[in-house]
Amino acid sequence: MQLSSLLDRFNEPETLRMAKLGRELRAQGHDLTDMSLGEPDFDTPEHVKAAAIKAVQDNYSHYTPVAGYPDLRAAVCTKLKRDNNLDYQPENVVVSTGAKQSIANLIMAVVDSGDEVIIPTPFWVTYSEIVKLVQGVPVIVTTKIENKYKITPAELEAAITPRTKLFMFSSPCNPTGSVYSKAELTGLAEVFRKHPNIVIMSDEIYEYINYTEYGHQSIAQFSDLKDRIAIINGLSKGYAMTGYRLGYLVANAELVKACEKIQGQMTSGATAVTQRAAIVALTGDQKPTQDMVAQFILRRKRILELLKEIPNIECAEPDGAFYVFPVISAYFGTSDGTDTIKDADDLCMYLLNKAHLSTVTGRAFGDPNCIRISFANSMENIEKGMAKMKAALATLK
Ligand code: PLP
Repeated sequence: MQLSSLLDRFNEPETLRMAKLGRELRAQGHDLTDMSLGEPDFDTPEHVKAAAIKAVQDNYSHYTPVAGYPDLRAAVCTKLKRDNNLDYQPENVVVSTGAKQSIANLIMAVVDSGDEVIIPTPFWVTYSEIVKLVQGVPVIVTTKIENKYKITPAELEAAITPRTKLFMFSSPCNPTGSVYSKAELTGLAEVFRKHPNIVIMSDEIYEYINYTEYGHQSIAQFSDLKDRIAIINGLSKGYAMTGYRLGYLVANAELVKACEKIQGQMTSGATAVTQRAAIVALTGDQKPTQDMVAQFILRRKRILELLKEIPNIECAEPDGAFYVFPVISAYFGTSDGTDTIKDADDLCMYLLNKAHLSTVTGRAFGDPNCIRISFANSMENIEKGMAKMKAALATLK
């Protein structure tokens, strides 16, 4: 069969590939410690589960409006006011099957073939791949560990050309955990003011998982830019609802209509039961989320302590999300006598096959000197995983 050339334009997500390899090892009976996954290891809050069960019983089994139920779109606006002091109307919201679909809708709605998309790097694996899928050109701007992997106004300005169409970033960032302060966003906003045609995607899916004193800051707070900002958010991370598949995009009504048109042909509206549960998650008791974050704070502290015990590793402390992204390039060129580690991919495979520890190569996130380790894991697994990593790296000379 002759498959389409579209398939050659992008890669499968490395995160999912590692998860698959890990599952295979586990099925063979190995004691796998999986630190590759980007999802909370907590259960969905009870009151949200109850809302989903009630939705099933109430026969929420029909097609849903493409952009989402009106009361869910309104609930998103309530959340934006409560958490971000942002004023939006339901017509500014389109609900999707996960934030990943919201991002894909946005890229398809604004990027034409040959358009440039600036992506501060390291970035979440999917950004560059969907841009390539629509034949846009990812413009990779490598950020520095000294700047906690945040793009500076000068770096942004230097990357802009007349072909720049979209700027995509996440704060908190997956994989680095960097979180932009208001002052840092102010600096970027000044650059965007000089370039009025650039659309800005602000991925805020890790909003609640924030360890800073200054808390979550959205670039949409700059009201003169608001019209060309698309906020991406969703329930996967903050409410431990990855399997429910619920994300949303918030933008001007024209862009929302464009995303709705695309989604109308791709998938239609998000799952009915999920949407009913999402209303309760967004507007109900937020304590389960706060309790989950309290656990992440403890785990972050522990994993950073344990990483410090491993020689030849440098790691920026994450200010948000649930990953550490250590620089492991000091191990390139080392060997255990059988395998030689050339790059981050080799190191990940070495940890997987020799130590049964699953991580993700930094190459997938645009930084080939690092690996990503998720601490969305029990304390026991974090300790076990870091002990495995320490022992495995000690065998490399
Ligand atoms: N954005 C970022 C930065 C992510 O890390 C993820 C998931 O890993 C998503 C978006 C997509 O989330 P979902 O499609 O589960 O809503």
